Amino acid sequence: MASWLNTPIGLIVVISIWLATIANFPLWRTLTLMPDNHGSQYWIFIFSFSIIIASLNAIALGVLAWGVFLKPVLALSTVAAGFGGYFMLTYGIVIDTGMIRNVIQTDVREVKDLLDIRLPITLLLLSGPPLVIIWFANIRPRTIKLALLQQIGIILGALALLVAVLLMAYQPFSSTMRNHPQVRYLINPLNSFYALTKLGVEPLINSPKEFKTLGEDVRLSELKKEEQPPIMILIVGETVRAQNLSLNSYQRTTTPLLSQEKNLFSAENAWSCGTSTAESIPCMFSNLGREGYLSRKADYENLLDVIQRAGMAVLWLDNQSGCKGVCERIPTQQAIPNPSSKFCTQDGTCQDSFMLENLKERIDTLPADRRKHGIVLVMHQMGSHGPAYFKRSMPERKKFLPECKSANLQSCSRESVMNAYDNSILETDYFLKNVIKWLDTTYKDRATSMMYVSDHGESLGEGNIYLHGLPYVFAPETQKKIPWILWMSDKMQDQTGASIACLNQRKEDALISHDNYFHTVIGMLNAQTHTYRRELDLLSACRQ
Ligand SMILES: [Zn+2]
Repeated sequence: MASWLNTPIGLIVVISIWLATIANFPLWRTLTLMPDNHGSQYWIFIFSFSIIIASLNAIALGVLAWGVFLKPVLALSTVAAGFGGYFMLTYGIVIDTGMIRNVIQTDVREVKDLLDIRLPITLLLLSGPPLVIIWFANIRPRTIKLALLQQIGIILGALALLVAVLLMAYQPFSSTMRNHPQVRYLINPLNSFYALTKLGVEPLINSPKEFKTLGEDVRLSELKKEEQPPIMILIVGETVRAQNLSLNSYQRTTTPLLSQEKNLFSAENAWSCGTSTAESIPCMFSNLGREGYLSRKADYENLLDVIQRAGMAVLWLDNQSGCKGVCERIPTQQAIPNPSSKFCTQDGTCQDSFMLENLKERIDTLPADRRKHGIVLVMHQMGSHGPAYFKRSMPERKKFLPECKSANLQSCSRESVMNAYDNSILETDYFLKNVIKWLDTTYKDRATSMMYVSDHGESLGEGNIYLHGLPYVFAPETQKKIPWILWMSDKMQDQTGASIACLNQRKEDALISHDNYFHTVIGMLNAQTHTYRRELDLLSACRQ
């Protein structure tokens, strides 16, 4: 090997350049696909941007990679770049704290769905050659003084280069970054390290927030003689976007069963709080609304705590990767796959309808003195969780064919991806219809209701973007516009004085979001607390 490659400086420079150019293939590809990629200004930008990234790499490696850490840090950077490149190329996603948090919080089954044969190939191409160079480099020990001088030299040299390029190409650089802020999340592998560091440092900077109770004054309204304590099922949907429901005027019939339901309202203009499960769920169960939640100074209890404090029986039943903290203080059950159920497969995943088996027995485990005040059951769906959409429907629900049978969505046609996704909506349609049926038969004389709200939407290849989890400000509408379906039995409508027919009449002008969730549920349960805000209650305008 060339002798200069056997020095720490040579090695750091080569790896920095490799990471900036080859390992950033997803970034360069995204930039060339942009509509404003013409003219000499553009090429000046590309050239200067690659030097800027190489300088940033060299500065980071100059600080971290020396002594015994030299080779491990360099190797780790190239491997991280390979993984990052794979996810960005395969799913058109960017890497930020939200994405990393998602990867950490999802369960093994889901991560398995994300990996395929292209992972080793991408790793081999993006990380292989530099790993070989690092492995064979014959680094001779330096004195500490020399090592220090050389590392400082690298850092200062890279810094000077960075400043020089920024000064010369400031104009095209700043305008591209302003127009396409997502580009910075594509800089590989600095994006992964930045996100990981931010996740690690955040709790140190923002010392753990004070934890506060919520709605201590809550009480249930006295029931009239002929009235019954309510039974409410809240379905937390997964990855369903509003536009793919025929209830919301989608051209394909994806919700044939719900469409026949008379006491049903489906919002056409509802928005999520976040673009991932981990972001949306805590925010949607909070009373603060999106802005209040993001800027909160303390952590608070949530909707479920308040309902439980009011004296009702609450249960969280999960067919997914957990409740993201909102069920911490209430009874929780993970729906354990049952191999004898027709809704479960051998690999241990179950269609959501399997949560309806033994549901009455599950509810009967809740304290009787609470049940007599009312029951709120939350079911957390697997829904349309990607990328393996084809696993989210039973054979008899597969109406749209052929389906993409791969987790690598870009290797399938857009149409087959859409088919698999739409079949998963048919499965949710079947599930929700059966929830209503179950309520109607199990609690025939009671005031029952079901509210279904998805946590976030999904990208299905529009603009070459797949899945979800893009930072909220520049995530496309498809990731943020969600279905919101409310069904109420006649008795529930009588008892609450709220009318589904009225909601349907006001459908057009109703712009709603997860901000409305807390207050709508509190309102439907007839609970009184100062934390309730009438103006955010979806039903307040339709209550006599
Ligand atoms: Zn989700």
